[in-house]
Amino acid sequence: TLPEFVVYIAFYWRVLEPSKAIANAYANVQRGLVSGNRIFAILDAVPAIKNRPNPIPLKSIEEDIVFDNVSFQYTNEPVLSDISLRIKKGQMIALVGPSGAGKSTMADLVPRFYDVTKGAIKIDGIDIRDYNQKDLISLMGIVTQETILFNDTIYNNITFGMENVTKEDVENAARIANAEEFILALEDGYNTNIGDRGAKLSGGQRQRLAIARAVLKNPPILILDEATSSLDEQTELAVLEGLQALTPKPTCIIITHRKSILQYCDREIKIENSKTIEM
Ligand code: ATP
Repeated sequence: TLPEFVVYIAFYWRVLEPSKAIANAYANVQRGLVSGNRIFAILDAVPAIKNRPNPIPLKSIEEDIVFDNVSFQYTNEPVLSDISLRIKKGQMIALVGPSGAGKSTMADLVPRFYDVTKGAIKIDGIDIRDYNQKDLISLMGIVTQETILFNDTIYNNITFGMENVTKEDVENAARIANAEEFILALEDGYNTNIGDRGAKLSGGQRQRLAIARAVLKNPPILILDEATSSLDEQTELAVLEGLQALTPKPTCIIITHRKSILQYCDREIKIENSKTIEM
């Protein structure tokens, strides 16, 4: 009958929406569980590199970084074999060599991203594995070819992770990294949002922001792993001149394929067939 039909339709519409909502809620819970698993897998990961018992605090570098017969392998193939090298405090050294020779690996051993397989790396005569790893990393500024930038303003990207910095410090760091000119040319200057991973900037601009961040930290040890590879030669040299003028002078390890950089370095170390040849 008509009344029954009207009641039926009304009932149908009343039930339809809540049942759709239940299905949606279930789908959302499932999405949340998957995301949660991925986040907690990272939060719960146990670091492979640990402090030894009673780690030694490390506040600065006084003398040198020494590679003492260092060998390293990721798998069965040796990447570095019996490397010995002394980098004096304040020196700027260039690591050069063919692609895949082990330059990045050598630099990654200094902050203990990996531990050496044989031998030892020492800072001021003490094995870096004996130091508190947090202290060790806090001595370093590391800029790689792949910049790590966030969807935020230029200012916040440069100051990321640092407290009590002044506007002057940030501007000075940007100047040293040769970034000030392009920053000021943007409509909102330092307050410009750079998009996801800095997508609104060019590769060279991203690299200069990453260098400005490292310079702002003013670390005693600076590792640049092809950090200026996207810059034109003139800008790259201006950045290196800026780095050379830093006081106190950081100990720099620069990985590069560009010959023009070498004029700024105290020494050039070539890695070939897992060995080093000093030049
Ligand atoms: P490029 O100039 O191309 O950056 P590189 O000299 O910096 O090269 P590394 O990145 O240090 O070279 O790599 C040295 C060797 O170690 C390569 O043969 C590479 O395949 C290998 N390797 C690098 N990282 C890993 C890893 N996480 N696991 C296993 N092998 C790796």
